[in-house]
Amino acid sequence: MHLATNLKDDRHAGVTPNLTRYADTYKNFRWQDVGICIDGLPDGVVNITYEAVDRHLVHERGQKTAIRWLPKTGAPQELSYADLAEQTSRFASVLQMLGVRKGDRVFGLAGRVPGLYIALLGTLKNGSVFSPLFSAFGPEPIRSRMTIGDARVLVTTERLYRKKIMPWRDQMPELKHVLLMDTSDKLPEGCRDLEKLLASGDPQCPVEPTQPEDMALLHFTSGTTGTPKGAVHAHQAVVYHILSARYALDLHQEDIYWCTADPGWVTGTSYGVIAPLCCGVTMVIDEAEFDADRWYQILQQEQVSVWYTAPTAIRMLMKAGDELPAQYDLSHLRFMASVGEPLNPEAIHWGERVLGLPFHDNWWQTETGGIMLANFASEPIKPGSMGLPLPGIEVAIVHRMPDGNLVFSNEEKDIGELALKCGWPSMFRAYLNAEERYLSCFKDGWYLSGDLAYRDATGYYWFVGRADDVIKSAGHLVGPFEVESALLEHPAVAEAAVIGIPDPVVGEMVKAYVALKEGYIGDDTLRKELLGHARKHLGASIAPKEIDFRDNLPKTRSGKIMRRLLKARELGLPEGDTSTLESDEHGARK
Ligand code: ATP
Ligand code: MG
Repeated sequence: MHLATNLKDDRHAGVTPNLTRYADTYKNFRWQDVGICIDGLPDGVVNITYEAVDRHLVHERGQKTAIRWLPKTGAPQELSYADLAEQTSRFASVLQMLGVRKGDRVFGLAGRVPGLYIALLGTLKNGSVFSPLFSAFGPEPIRSRMTIGDARVLVTTERLYRKKIMPWRDQMPELKHVLLMDTSDKLPEGCRDLEKLLASGDPQCPVEPTQPEDMALLHFTSGTTGTPKGAVHAHQAVVYHILSARYALDLHQEDIYWCTADPGWVTGTSYGVIAPLCCGVTMVIDEAEFDADRWYQILQQEQVSVWYTAPTAIRMLMKAGDELPAQYDLSHLRFMASVGEPLNPEAIHWGERVLGLPFHDNWWQTETGGIMLANFASEPIKPGSMGLPLPGIEVAIVHRMPDGNLVFSNEEKDIGELALKCGWPSMFRAYLNAEERYLSCFKDGWYLSGDLAYRDATGYYWFVGRADDVIKSAGHLVGPFEVESALLEHPAVAEAAVIGIPDPVVGEMVKAYVALKEGYIGDDTLRKELLGHARKHLGASIAPKEIDFRDNLPKTRSGKIMRRLLKARELGLPEGDTSTLESDEHGARK
């Protein structure tokens, strides 16, 4: 399973990776040298939108296509960097006209439409703080996030406003302005028509002189382990967005890039808006939801060269079969990466076999603001591993002692908590209104991620599980990921989730939930076969003792399996915060 592949594909031939000598670059890296990544403005001003958009005009790239927007239906639309500069200036001037100042919070609630991207970048241009909300959230998760975030402005559509905001708007008098991107003839009371405002906005409105530490983005976590937290990010993060996109996603200015994540989640903002624009690429934005046919069509038609997606989507593509991609020309793809959940080795092998390229897994969190560990273009991929630390990122495996002190592990394969030495530019600066929780993530200058992992002899890091999800069974520490990956190697299994159930003899018993591929029936024969398959691959002490079949597994809207929910249901305990729950077999939450 720990097989190293070093794929040298013809498609890489013309493009030299940005990071060619990893070991040297890592060793000689100094943060004081990376300022050159950005242009900056006089007097130490750093502004994300300046770096992502306006700077390109100075370098005579204004006419280059920044965004290729693919609406659900109809023809693609393009926005050049110059268009973006103008639109974001208009948006910033609208905020100024409304009295919205530096630091004020602007929330965005919309599907993946150009107006959302303009609002995000225009807000940052004005020095205000942007907080993206996933458009499929119901009224309550929206209300709670806007309350925590002290929203002054909301940018949304009339349909979403009527359905999700109007019912509680009067409970939030601090929400001064609601700007609607598309309006019918009858504007709802207390709302403004954004298009009209933009038409009278200043197309040359200058960038607000924000300082590196000024707050730029407020991102709520996915809520996989509990109540979502509001992570605060500063303008300085842009330095790391650029650096990490060049290193971990191997972005070159010539690339056509597609990040499938929604800007409602941090990946969709850091690497779905900011980093690619900063790198000057043309990025594809698809308004529609996942559809295997459509996705392959996009990869072909748009000639996508770098593709950043997530394990759940990859597993869905795998489920759709190997014949489908064979009908498309995917030869423009040269680099594929994945994030958000552990990427099972099976998915990497599938990519290689069926798409002609492996996926490069990388790891990070809302809190880290950018990619921390990655399988790089120029280094061997280790299927199942999160990869190596990015230059500038110091990683350790630590044990928290009962007295609160940390013990650093030097032993190979010793499982402990993944910790990161503080100081990289995109690190979160606070959990909004939750200082104690924020402070509890740090010890002696290290950030403690809450994920368990180990390091191998070659310095690669391997995900074991979230600290909350790891199972202690008969003296063994069982990582759900390892068990799930083994199950996924069986041809019948589409998805798997593994939890521990209290057991008087072994402490916790390993139980698996499995969703099957089409054409398979979850009966006793298959159950026995899967239990046998798992025992053969994992050994009796780690293999699940029980398997339940499910049509779907509960997931967050960002596509992560919610093991805590399976456990709560299994044990008849309260389900906790389910505000980010996608529909599952217990009923749709749309
Ligand atoms: P919450 O903190 O609210 O429970 P969340 O942790 O799912 O939600 P995110 O910040 O979106 O919110 O996700 C980060 C987490 O996702 C990581 O801590 C890790 O558990 C998981 N993750 C991300 N990438 C990977 C990866 N490549 N391999 C394994 N796990 C990953
Ligand atoms: Mg988390």
